[in-house]
This record gives sequence, C-alpha cells and structure tokens, in this order.
Amino acid sequence: MENCLFCKIAAGEIPCNKAYEDDAVLAFHDIAPQAPVHVLIIPKKHVGDVTALVPDDAALWFHMAEVANKLAKELKVDEKGFRIVTNVGADGGQSVNHLHLHLLGGRSMKWPPG
Ligand code: AMP
Repeated sequence: MENCLFCKIAAGEIPCNKAYEDDAVLAFHDIAPQAPVHVLIIPKKHVGDVTALVPDDAALWFHMAEVANKLAKELKVDEKGFRIVTNVGADGGQSVNHLHLHLLGGRSMKWPPG
C-alpha cells in the first residue's frame, strides 16, 4: 500500500535491522525498543490491523505467531517468558497502520500495561 511505512520496509525500500524473513513475513528490531528484546513481526502484504484479517489469512496469522515463537527461542527469552502484543487504533496505541506483532522480552513485564 502506498505511503505505508511497513510496506516500504517489507519491499526493501526503507532499511531495517532484520531478524527473520520469508515469502510471507518479515521481522525486524524495533527502532525505539521498549525492552532488551523488541522485534516487530509483520505480514509482507498490507493488512491494516488485526481487525482486517479475513479467514483466508488464518495460515498467515498462525505463521506470524510461529515466527514470534521461533525468534523468542533464538533471542533467548523463551525460558523466562516474553510478551506478544498487537495494538489496534488510537486507544490501543497503534502508530503504524500495518499489522504487526511486538515481541517483547528480556525484562519483567508489568500488568496492567500502560
Ligand atoms: P505501534 O505503535 O503498535 O503501531 O508500533 C509501531 C512500532 O514501530 C513502534 O514501536 C515504533 O518504534 C516502530 N517503528 C517505527 N518506525 C520504525 C522503523 N523505521 N524501523 C523499526 N521500527 C519502527
């Protein structure tokens, strides 16, 4: 989608610190990390947020979770635990309108979240 930051990153038009890539999904380190491990997992195709997923995206959505779990292991936060977050809309704290999972780890997370 035109003028979508994460579409541009997925297309390689804007650089990122890549953590994982395949045909459907890209993962990269967040530019403003909120935890020692803070990786974003995005679908390469444009999906605005989790509410825009359709049944045909079931495998893609599962794959994003699979990639997050694999990265949690690789980045060694799987044993102590981690958090996966997806923000939706203004009150949800979404600043980039392209679906992404935040994988956060390496410190103790608070609840309720801010
Ligand atoms: P959200 O606020 O949930 O939409 O998350 C968007 C995330 O994208 C934020 O954590 C930003 O720090 C991160 N971000 C924005 N621009 C970039 C970029 N160019 N490279 C990596 N992460 C970015």
